[in-house]
Amino acid sequence: MNLDRDVKADPRRVLPSVDRIRRAVAAECPELAEWAVVLAAQQALGEARDELRTANSSSATQLEDWTRRVASEARRLMDPHPRRVINATGVVLHTNLGRAPIAPGAAQAAAAAASHYSDLELEVGAGRRGDRLGPVAAKLCRLSGAEAAAVCNNNAAAVMLVLDTLARGREVVISRGELVEIGGSFRIPEILERAGARLVEVGTTNRTHPGDYERAVGPDTALLLKVHRSNFEQRGFVAEVELAELAEIGRRHGIPVAEDLGSGTLLDLRAQGLPQESHAPSRLRLGADVVCFSGDKLLGGPQAGIALGRAGVVGAMRSNPLARALRVDKMTIAALDWTLSRILDGSAEREIPALRQLLEPVESLEKRARALAERLRGTGAAGLAVEALRGRAPLGGGSLPGFELDTWRVSLRPAGSAQELAAALRSAPVPVIARVREDAVLLDVRTLDEADTELLESALEAALR
Ligand SMILES: *Cc1c(COP(=O)(O)O)cnc(C)c1O
Repeated sequence: MNLDRDVKADPRRVLPSVDRIRRAVAAECPELAEWAVVLAAQQALGEARDELRTANSSSATQLEDWTRRVASEARRLMDPHPRRVINATGVVLHTNLGRAPIAPGAAQAAAAAASHYSDLELEVGAGRRGDRLGPVAAKLCRLSGAEAAAVCNNNAAAVMLVLDTLARGREVVISRGELVEIGGSFRIPEILERAGARLVEVGTTNRTHPGDYERAVGPDTALLLKVHRSNFEQRGFVAEVELAELAEIGRRHGIPVAEDLGSGTLLDLRAQGLPQESHAPSRLRLGADVVCFSGDKLLGGPQAGIALGRAGVVGAMRSNPLARALRVDKMTIAALDWTLSRILDGSAEREIPALRQLLEPVESLEKRARALAERLRGTGAAGLAVEALRGRAPLGGGSLPGFELDTWRVSLRPAGSAQELAAALRSAPVPVIARVREDAVLLDVRTLDEADTELLESALEAALR
């Protein structure tokens, strides 16, 4: 066997070494940190090896290609993550863009809690150990009428904690129409299995009746669970058992009823056109023993899972050993506490960005869209048509499917490709994330701040250059 020929035939041998790339990048771009260059080189070489294994060819061959690719990747690694972007999609709760931005006051509260010692678990006056969730739980109870409240890392964790506390080793009855996948690999049947509960499916995909639940209830039934279909709708020949009815069935059999609301609010926003189904206090009044929802969807606070309900149920959740593994940190508690205080003092609709955006009147959106269009027209690229347009946009974040808001947008129709213009806007120092429809880039003003205008303008100028 000719070893020499075999070695030469292995294309992996043609890849440069990490050190060779590092030296080439250092010569070209001395401003880049060595750790970033080495990390980027290792990643790029790893990808190239995979490419060679599967396709037996590699896109990068010359050392200059490697230098360029690794330098740009190293630059990206040196950027903080997550990096600020401008959300021009109009989708207020955009999971890829971090869902609800918290209020500056909430962010300051989180920063203060993070950078100083605090009385997180201390009753300062009495000098004894305090309850880290005490003040936040008291506010949640006051706002919802719940007997008790628990807060954990996110709503997926809250659902897990409900199931583990109430139904470990026993049965959970749920409609086949509510065995949902939320995205980010959160699937109700799998969470149930992980919590050690047995799933008892009732009804069909499109129709579930009270009798279906009645027949499924047995000596091993621990919980009746209702799950909000956060990211899809059912229309046509459909029937579901309303929460009040389900609560009645639960009461008759002495079985607790839990509802995963997904996106919950503590404010009744019906007057502003939002559906009641997300209003946690109403769900409790309809008879749920416990409801849980996210802190960073419609509530407009930090990422958290909030569970509200009867003292017995929520108390058991809080003393479950799993609660320790799912607990929230001090920054979250501080930001949530601030957010809840604004709801209590009646200033939430003004102070909480997600609510402010959601509730902005269409006349105000129109005014802002027209002003922004005027301003961007000033960037004056030949062939760019700038126009304010009325439209409709979803809420996003798996909140209220099928629910859309009237909105206003600035449409940018370039002479060339709209996709290319959108890509150029994304490569701005503060990337602008916008949707493309047909031959236009759409900037929805609902999620834009007055303070973003200048950044937008320079991003557009650079994109058109
Ligand atoms: C969003 C959602 C979840 C997950 O909430 P996170 O806070 O993202 O963990 C769970 N259930 C429903 C119905 C949801 O809409």
